[in-house]
Amino acid sequence: PYSLGRTILDYDARRSAWLAAHPEFPTRVAPGGRPRVLVVTGSAPARCPDPDGDHLLLRAFKNKADYCRVHGLEVFYNTAFLDAEMSGFWAKLPLLRTLMQAHPEVELFWWVDSDAVFTDMLFELPWERYEPYNLVLHGWAAKVFEEKSWVGINTGSFLIRNCQWSLDLLDALAPMGPRGPVRDRYGELFARELSGRPPFEADDQSALIYLLVTQRSRWGDKTFLESTYELNGFWEGIVDRYEELRRKSRPGDLGDGRWPLVTHFVGCKPCRRYADSYPADRCRRGMERAFNFANDQILRLYGFEHESLNTTAVQRVRDETGGPLDADDEELRRLLHPTFRAA
Ligand code: UDP
Ligand code: MN
Repeated sequence: PYSLGRTILDYDARRSAWLAAHPEFPTRVAPGGRPRVLVVTGSAPARCPDPDGDHLLLRAFKNKADYCRVHGLEVFYNTAFLDAEMSGFWAKLPLLRTLMQAHPEVELFWWVDSDAVFTDMLFELPWERYEPYNLVLHGWAAKVFEEKSWVGINTGSFLIRNCQWSLDLLDALAPMGPRGPVRDRYGELFARELSGRPPFEADDQSALIYLLVTQRSRWGDKTFLESTYELNGFWEGIVDRYEELRRKSRPGDLGDGRWPLVTHFVGCKPCRRYADSYPADRCRRGMERAFNFANDQILRLYGFEHESLNTTAVQRVRDETGGPLDADDEELRRLLHPTFRAA
């Protein structure tokens, strides 16, 4: 069967040795000793066929740059197919494998889809909770292990630890992904074995659920399914409620339906003329609103906000004679000079 490359053995020991030899690159960073995190995202090598597509990708990346700056996270944007067989949503496998080996100092990789938008600029992940785990996904155990639902987890935003276990997991997923007949056949298998899954080519999300279900004892213990906040929030139920969220709630502490950390435009394809599941104009309008909702949290720091969530036009909301530091606003303070960020 297909593989990502030569089997890597003894990785944990080799990584430890490297880390011991390079104390200047610790896997934990200040303040508080949270794990060093690399946010990994990307999009196709070629330009989008949709005339608006690349502009949407640019704004989606601007959004990630904002979140990462506020939280002191590094970010890697990939636009190459490192492996011709691993095209489309499978591209993240060889990418993560390569990055793991090249960056032993990184403790956790946070894969974030290009079409996932950070909509709570203040929310910091509960890093300590994930200490005993190697893989953290948004999802529900009952949906995965009992229903075998193909949406029991989502692979649009997840954490994976830099260790042998993770390399083994990537190796276990890879044989289901090579494009062409193999990917098609696994797609049919997933459609039979997982509930609610339409019969299309194998995707990494279905493959992961299939592994978790069929080899639970191998992978289950080190996998954490997070559902207390929206590590991955499905866009449809969110995008029309942003004004309501702002009236009723505040960013920073919840991350859940009351102020979702992530709004993910699953099934909306800015580069494929939205051929998939949802009408193009609904996707487009929802994305506009998510970008503006998120950007307002940044713009307000500097005294501006969008005139409405449906327009790119902005207006001044503070007298320009007073600096933001005069603002007696806890939210502004926390975003401009976050306590979770290294000085
Ligand atoms: N992707 C990539 N290169 C490609 C195609 C996709 O890196 O050529 C990444 C991109 O970040 C994208 C993700 O794979 O967001 C998953 O695809 P998509 O978001 O379109 O799937 P959906 O979330 O709708 O299931
Ligand atoms: Mn996506």
